Amino acid sequence: MIQIKSFTFNPFSENTYVVFDETGEGVVIDPGCYEQQEKIALAQFIEDKGIRIKYLLNTHCHIDHVLGNDYVKEKYKVPFLIHALEEPVLKSVKAYAPSYGFARYHEIHPDQFMKEGEMISFGSTQLDILFLPGHAPGHVGFYHRESKSLLSGDVLFERSIGRTDLPGGDFNTLINSIHKKLFTLPDDVVVYSGHGSPTTIGDEKVSNPFCALSLIK
Ligand SMILES: [Zn+2]
Repeated sequence: MIQIKSFTFNPFSENTYVVFDETGEGVVIDPGCYEQQEKIALAQFIEDKGIRIKYLLNTHCHIDHVLGNDYVKEKYKVPFLIHALEEPVLKSVKAYAPSYGFARYHEIHPDQFMKEGEMISFGSTQLDILFLPGHAPGHVGFYHRESKSLLSGDVLFERSIGRTDLPGGDFNTLINSIHKKLFTLPDDVVVYSGHGSPTTIGDEKVSNPFCALSLIK
């Protein structure tokens, strides 16, 4: 069975995840580590648990989710995967990173593209790739059916949703992703978001002020 470890990194309070299983293999999702102590915290956990990292994955490529990509890629020498529609989003980060105070951001390029219908496999684990555009054009989520766990990135948060005012964002597309993809998952699926605390699909269906089913006429 998988274990999910979260870290909250960088001034955007971004959640970085290490997902691993009983075989000792795992993946890093959205490494937001920028400062040295953040990188050390991530690496120390991986070392302490003896995890062999197999992939570096981004749910999407906004700056807060990609700051540690170069560190993870360099340290673990693993393939870096994004959705093809996130490539321009990733490429744009380099230009605006200094204005956000991240002058040391170093861009890396994806080794492969991933898309819905494919799976990420490591150890005895398979994660379904869900295409969830709206917050970003090529946003994906990772769903582990057996444990009913969803790594949702910035699509759905506890009582909130991803912003849609950034380039490539679209509100109706985001709501569509939530209703057509996420709200068709079982109610007891735990949602591990890109920011904030975990929640469940059932809780958000009832209580989310932006997209609860009770609000849909
Ligand atoms: Zn984002």
